[in-house]
Amino acid sequence: MPQKLFCDFCGNEISGDAEFCGKCGTLFLDDVSCFNHPDEEAKGVCAICHQAYCKRCGLRVNGIFLCNEHADYEIYEGMAKVFGSSDEQKIIYLKSILEKNNLHPFLYSRKSTSLNLGGADYLAAAHLSGGKDGNLVYEIKLLVPCAEVLQAENIIDEIDQSSPEIT
Ligand SMILES: [Zn+2]
Ligand SMILES: [Zn+2]
Ligand SMILES: [Zn+2]
Repeated sequence: MPQKLFCDFCGNEISGDAEFCGKCGTLFLDDVSCFNHPDEEAKGVCAICHQAYCKRCGLRVNGIFLCNEHADYEIYEGMAKVFGSSDEQKIIYLKSILEKNNLHPFLYSRKSTSLNLGGADYLAAAHLSGGKDGNLVYEIKLLVPCAEVLQAENIIDEIDQSSPEIT
């Protein structure tokens, strides 16, 4: 029986022959070179595109290694935001489609965060974030594990090509 192994960095369970942690992008091999710079030692594997990158081409965002191209994703609890909307029905619909495609979507709304924003501060922050009629306050985020981001985005694009709010 192979022994269970866990990522030193994030505690994710990994298989014995894993070359990197699929959750946080920690690289377990030495002598891996950067995808862009063959002479540079890779510092991690982008959790979204799974290429190895050096410290110039990637960085850790909230404990997850991402390449420069994917560093702009909002990461929550090890998952990346692929869609955000205040339209709850739409979000739930998209989530069900992703689930049918064997992905593992998760809904996240600010109302359920443990952020230390008390009532007044919370409202002030909501106004500052620019919601004209307050709809940003209740934005629901559709998250997927980082490894499923590219797949999820393809699916969302396909089923909702007409919507201009998809990025
Ligand atoms: Zn890890
Ligand atoms: Zn990437
Ligand atoms: Zn590089």
